[in-house]
Amino acid sequence: MHDRPPELACALRAVAEACAVTRLVQSDLDQIRQLTKDDRSPVTVADFAAQAIVGMRLTDELGTVALVGEETAADLRQLKSDALPRAITQAVRHIRPEISDDAVLDAIDLGNHDASAATYWTLDPVDGTKGFLRHGQYAVSLALIENGKVKLGVLGCTNLSADFNRGFNDPDPLGCIYYATLGNGAWFLPANDIDLDPSRISAATEVSLDTLRVCESVEAAHSKQDDTARIIKHLNATSKPARLDSQCKYAVVGRGQADAYLRLPTGVGYVEKIWDHAAGMLVAQEAGAIVSDMFGNALDFSKGATLSANQGVVCTAPSIHARIIEAIEALGIGP
Ligand code: AMP
Ligand code: MG
Repeated sequence: MHDRPPELACALRAVAEACAVTRLVQSDLDQIRQLTKDDRSPVTVADFAAQAIVGMRLTDELGTVALVGEETAADLRQLKSDALPRAITQAVRHIRPEISDDAVLDAIDLGNHDASAATYWTLDPVDGTKGFLRHGQYAVSLALIENGKVKLGVLGCTNLSADFNRGFNDPDPLGCIYYATLGNGAWFLPANDIDLDPSRISAATEVSLDTLRVCESVEAAHSKQDDTARIIKHLNATSKPARLDSQCKYAVVGRGQADAYLRLPTGVGYVEKIWDHAAGMLVAQEAGAIVSDMFGNALDFSKGATLSANQGVVCTAPSIHARIIEAIEALGIGP
């Protein structure tokens, strides 16, 4: 067994359990759609089930914790039909065979903290919901924030392969977990066996502009893809960005498979949420990448549940970061 600090050991178990359940829900998409008569319901089921599982795992092992989760059970409690809550309970029972519908709703609401405590966890139970529905990439993302600093991050990349040659649209049967604690590097484990010895990951140390490897969102509404193309051109690179959903992009830079992950505002007004970045940022940084907003400022996790002091994200191998920030400025890219 590994001599892991209790918070890390618990967070790894929580994410591994959530990954296992989201994977099972994904294999049952059509059945859940039929049951709930709702095309999007499988991701809703996975989302709520994963939040319940993580909330219970943290509470069981660490006692009462403050958890800022993306989801709340308030709307579920108001539904006229119980098809969706029943489907969520069925999913949670893969891990907690005896659990009742009410206990599942209460477990989801363990994630209702408002980010006002000095120390809290933050969770995106299924980051990249569109990726989940299209059998692309999605991530279970869990982080621990202390006094405005991300101290621990775990990313469950259930469909991501450890084999760099496997396409992002080709879901992997095992999946990857990436994790980091502040100051201790970033590490890989297969999602199906977290008791194995982890291997260290590192961002690229040498970057060639000719073959610059950039990644960005699949969703044009989440990142301005035209601006990514302008930056690539400005740097005299000719590459085409890889597109994948979720915080898996941070892991892809952290493991040296891409040189940069760019997230450029599509309009005025969108404020990034902490659960969409905390775990991914720490994994990438501990792997040696530089993570900032589009102006080069550090992401500020001291402002509650949003990154209200920042706009956009630029996560890159160290040697290319300044060049990209300069390109953004030179091109007048901004919200
Ligand atoms: P991605 O998978 O990288 O496209 O990012 C998915 C995340 O984008 C979701 O978790 C949403 O919270 C977030 N999101 C939603 N709307 C926007 C927006 N207008 N700009 C940036 N991110 C957004
Ligand atoms: Mg998200």
